This record gives sequence, C-alpha cells and structure tokens, in this order.
Amino acid sequence: MREGVNLQRYNTFGLPAVAERYLALTDVAQLSDDAFNQAPALVLGGGSNLVLLEEIPGLTVHVLLNGIESADGKGRFRVRAGTDWNQFVRYTLEQGFPGMENLILIPGTIGAAPVQNIGAYGAEVAEFITAVHAWEYGRGMVELSPEDCAFGYRDSRFKREPGRYLITAVDFDLSQRRPLKLEYGAIAGELERCGITEPSARDVATAVTNIRRSKLPDWFFLGNSGSFFKNPVVERSLHANLLETHPDLPSYPIDDSVVKLPAGWLIDKAGLRGAGTDCVGTYERQALVMVNRGGASGRDILSFSKQVQDTVMAKFGVPLEPEVRVIGRQAG
Ligand SMILES: Cc1cc2nc3c(=O)[nH]c(=O)nc-3n(C[C@H](O)[C@H](O)[C@H](O)COP(=O)(O)OP(=O)(O)OC[C@H]3O[C@@H](n4cnc5c(N)ncnc54)[C@H](O)[C@@H]3O)c2cc1C
Repeated sequence: MREGVNLQRYNTFGLPAVAERYLALTDVAQLSDDAFNQAPALVLGGGSNLVLLEEIPGLTVHVLLNGIESADGKGRFRVRAGTDWNQFVRYTLEQGFPGMENLILIPGTIGAAPVQNIGAYGAEVAEFITAVHAWEYGRGMVELSPEDCAFGYRDSRFKREPGRYLITAVDFDLSQRRPLKLEYGAIAGELERCGITEPSARDVATAVTNIRRSKLPDWFFLGNSGSFFKNPVVERSLHANLLETHPDLPSYPIDDSVVKLPAGWLIDKAGLRGAGTDCVGTYERQALVMVNRGGASGRDILSFSKQVQDTVMAKFGVPLEPEVRVIGRQAG
C-alpha cells in the first residue's frame, strides 16, 4: 500500500490527480488480503477512459494482472485483466484467429473492455466474450455469463454498478469464422486506396490502423480519452425535425422509434471543432475528441465539456452524454 501516489502518468489525458491510497494488483491471490476488503474508489486499468479530478479519496487499485492464462489452440482464450488490449488483438491475428480486427488499436486493458463494451467500426467486444471472471466485493470470485454482463451500447452491468466488481480475467471465443465487416467508416475506401480487392482480416486491421492514426491524436503527445461523448440516440420525430433544417445529418437507425446520431458531427456543425482554450479543446481533425493542450486539470475538461453540451443542446436540442467516467474531487 502506498499513499499519495500521483496518477498523472497513469491516465491518457495526463491529468494531475493524487490517489490517497494506491495498491498494485499483480496476483489474484492478493484479493483475499485485508487491504482489498473494501470496495475501491477507483479500479484503474490503462486510464484511457477517465477524467480524474485532483484528489482521489480512498483506495485506488491498479490492475496489473498480465498475460494469457490459457489458450486451447482453437481460438478460445482466457486473458488476465491487466493485459494490453491492442497487443492481444494483434496476437490473435498473428495466431490465425480473426474476428477482432475492427477493434485494433483501442487503448486500454482487457479488464476494462467489457466495462463499456468497447466498440469501433461496427464491432463490439461483447460479440467475442463468453465469460467474465471478477472479484465481487463482499462475495469473492464470481464468473459472469454474457447475459449476466448485460451488455449494451458502450454499456454493461460493470459500468452501471461501479465498485461492485473488479474484473480479473475475460474469456474470448474466436473459434467461429465470421464475415469481415467492411461497410463501416472508411474501411472500404482505405482498402481500395491500398489496392486490395480481396482483403484478409489482417488487411482490415491495417486499414483500421491507418484510419485511426490519421483521425485520432496520439495521447502520448496530446492527452485525450478518445471519443468524449456517446453518440446520442434520439426519437424519430426529433430526427425528422432536424432533417428539415439539416438535410445532410447522418444517422443510423436502431429500431422503428429511435435513431443514433454521430456526436462528432453535431459538435462540428455547432462550430466547435478545434475550439477551446490554450489548455483544453476539441481536436482539429475530430470534434468528438477532447484534448489536453497542456496543463489542463480535470475541472478544465469538465467545464469545457459542459460548454460543448450546452451549445449542442441549444443548436440541435440533442443532449450529449459523456462516455468517459469522472472520478475524484477538487482539491481545497
Ligand atoms: C485515443 C483513444 C481512442 C479510443 N478509442 C476507443 C474506441 O474506438 N472505442 C471504445 O469503445 N473506446 C475507445 N477509447 C476509450 C478506452 O480506450 C476504452 O474505454 C478502454 O477500454 C479503457 O481501458 P482502460 O484500461 O484504459 O480503462 P480505464 O480508463 O482505466 O477505466 C475505465 C473504466 O473501467 C473500469 N475498469 C478498468 N479496469 C477494470 C477492471 N479490471 N475491473 C473493473 N473495472 C475496471 C474503471 O474503473 C473505469 O470505470 C479510446 C481512448 C483513447 C485514449
């Protein structure tokens, strides 16, 4: 147990924050120690989906359980929660088990992937998860089925019940061949640009890598947490009204009553792409990404995100909900 640990280098926004108490979890056996008895204020993975305020009261548990625990050689893997997500996706492709190529290059850890059911380019991690192993506070080790996890769009039981579970490992099944998903984002265009007419999963991974590198800032140089807001889901009546004034509004039907709108488009059309101050703003090439231009605090990020929400609400009548989780309190 350490006290007063600076988490600035443990979050991709690069925000200054001090954990009152900090424990590194490197072995599941540690979970039965008294120190882990109470539910932590923060279960920390790669810190790529968090806005940390200056003080994190209570306990922060940093999940550093690393590596592939088991693999059956047929595409089924049990992977420890602290393992790097992107490295695992690369490994599965190298081993000849395609499926997760559209999810390449998402930062963060295996254990956080089910929390917000990470997704990109028409794929979601929930499609590949067969079980989640977790420490349930007050109960002990449990195994959750995909149904137990209650996955939704950037959502799950773990996101809705923070503090209840600490995920220790995730089971994946890549044994079934699935058709490639080429129709999302700019994948088809990127493959064409590279002269590829009959793509393999690894070609798709390369295409997604190229697209992501061209659109998203490298958090190592420009702090960010990827998409800051979820894409809002709105009633068809509101969508129809918006189309009258904005006929070019893109949308994705969900069912007969609601459609999903791209939050980045709304922020862009509200005139906020590249907007902000010296320390915080939206990224010039992708309005949905909020960036720390240098010296920003969690409070700066939240106050600018509120401005973005208010402007989009005033212009389109559409509420934006943050995708990131906010933890801690302001000092003083
Ligand atoms: C440049 C960039 C691009 C991104 N692109 C995408 C994208 O395309 N799609 C997407 O879905 N996300 C994206 N993200 C968001 C982020 O990468 C994912 O949400 C990722 O899964 C977060 O992993 P992490 O280990 O960093 O989690 P953290 O940020 O450390 O934690 C996120 C949440 O998960 C909880 N958590 C973490 N580990 C555990 C655990 N072991 N047990 C229980 N709870 C845990 C935390 O308490 C917190 O609530 C992007 C982020 C960045 C910076």
